[in-house]
Amino acid sequence: MTEAALKLENCHSYYTIATCGDCGKVRKFPNRCDLFYCPECANHLQHERQRQVEWWAARIKQPKHVVLTIRNITDLSAGHVDELRKMFGKLRRRKFARNWKGGYYGIQVTNEGKGWHLHIHALVDARWIDEPELKQQWRSITNGLGYIVRVKDCRDADYLRETTRYVIHGSQLAAWQPDTIETFVRAFQNKRTFGVFGELYGARTEFAEWIATLKQAKPRCECGSCNVRYQSETDWLIYQTFEQPSNQPRPPPSSEQQLLNTVLPPLWPD
Ligand SMILES: [Zn+2]
Ligand SMILES: [Zn+2]
Repeated sequence: MTEAALKLENCHSYYTIATCGDCGKVRKFPNRCDLFYCPECANHLQHERQRQVEWWAARIKQPKHVVLTIRNITDLSAGHVDELRKMFGKLRRRKFARNWKGGYYGIQVTNEGKGWHLHIHALVDARWIDEPELKQQWRSITNGLGYIVRVKDCRDADYLRETTRYVIHGSQLAAWQPDTIETFVRAFQNKRTFGVFGELYGARTEFAEWIATLKQAKPRCECGSCNVRYQSETDWLIYQTFEQPSNQPRPPPSSEQQLLNTVLPPLWPD
């Protein structure tokens, strides 16, 4: 998977320098690949996922946190991911779930050396979900593969953290062996790992509009100013050296020195 590996290699390899035209604050932004299997982008992806999922969570009136798992599998494939999503769809269409007004779900995976542990965290809008009955239903849909099934109390604040989690933890991914990473990437490539259903499905136009406004919003400096200049590292250095107006404060020398260290190749004697 050379091409995919090269994209990871290139990720976080250069920076854009943002200088606030009002307070003079200088910030650095790395280039991102935003690939779901990039450990360096994992934090950013998790942050984005959380912000979006919280938008959906706010539309659920009587949230019940449902956890559904299947027994660990030794070799993960794209088929397993599809199958899990289909099984969850089947469950929602059963008579048992007719009081589920809507909700969202996310597919997550872990592998701590004992096989692949695929599971679903869902936030369901329902007045009441019977856990023993849910267990039975899930077991029958999964042909006995259904494993841990829980309905968690949402007065416990953990549910937001658990249901907004991205498909994988960056730190776990970074610790895997290459063949494990390859299996994971192939299984989840182009797979949807988040979905909404029921009444929430009707809000997806509103959701798309919200995302569009977020994208249009101008990036701001901490001081509130939108007057921000973006430069490559090289242009920024040239600007610092030759074009800096004398009446503007220069950034502190320590940060400038750090920046120089990251930008310029070391000087070797001939
Ligand atoms: Zn500012
Ligand atoms: Zn990346």
